[in-house]
This record gives sequence, C-alpha cells and structure tokens, in this order.
Amino acid sequence: MTTSSLMPAWGVDHLPTLLAHCRQCGTYTFPSNAWSCRACGADTLDKVPMPQTPVLRNFITLHGDVVPGLTPPVVVGEVEIAPGVVEEALIAVDDESRLTLDMPMEAIGADPADTQRGLRFRPLEAQG
Ligand SMILES: [Zn+2]
Repeated sequence: MTTSSLMPAWGVDHLPTLLAHCRQCGTYTFPSNAWSCRACGADTLDKVPMPQTPVLRNFITLHGDVVPGLTPPVVVGEVEIAPGVVEEALIAVDDESRLTLDMPMEAIGADPADTQRGLRFRPLEAQG
C-alpha cells in the first residue's frame, strides 16, 4: 500500500480510532482512549471511526491571542462527531461568513503530534 503526499497529516491513520463505542449500551465516548463509557461506566469499549458526517452546532470567532501558535482571528466551533458527542475544535476557514449552523463538516489534517486534541474541521464541500 502506497502513501499519498496529499493525505492529511494524521487523518487516515487516526480517524478509524477517533471514538470509543460501548458494547454494553452503544454510547460513543471521545476521545477513544477514555477509561470507560461516559454513560454506563463499562470498560468494554471498541475504538471506532466517526459514525456520521460531522455537523457544525455552534461557532465563534476569537480575536484575542488566545490559542498558542495561531494568529487571530481564529474560528472555533462545536462539532457533533457522533450522537451526543460535541467537541470544540478549530474550524479551518478564513472567516465565519462561510459557516452556517448545522452545516456538514469534514475532518482534516492537524498537528500529527496531538492527534486527539488536534482535530480540525472545514465545511464539507460539494464534490465535483
Ligand atoms: Zn456504555
């Protein structure tokens, strides 16, 4: 299997194990290295990819110098990555005028040294 230089920095390697899925109750937990299910406490967790297209639930533009290593303004969103799992993440757009609530998103490459917290999203563009 060959590796394409166009692949996200971490995406194809880590997206398959992004979340933990509980065998007991079916609840998704993030990140996937959680000790136990956030709903029932069982430790029978399987690492799984996102079960749905990520959805943008909220967003805000930060103008202060609040995120180390990033030049403001920075757009931060709350993205639903599984039923009941909403994570705060960087949104890779120049400004929030491109964004609307509940729009579909896609995960893209991020810092390969921080695979869980380095999650970033951008609007899911129509293909073709
Ligand atoms: Zn559970």
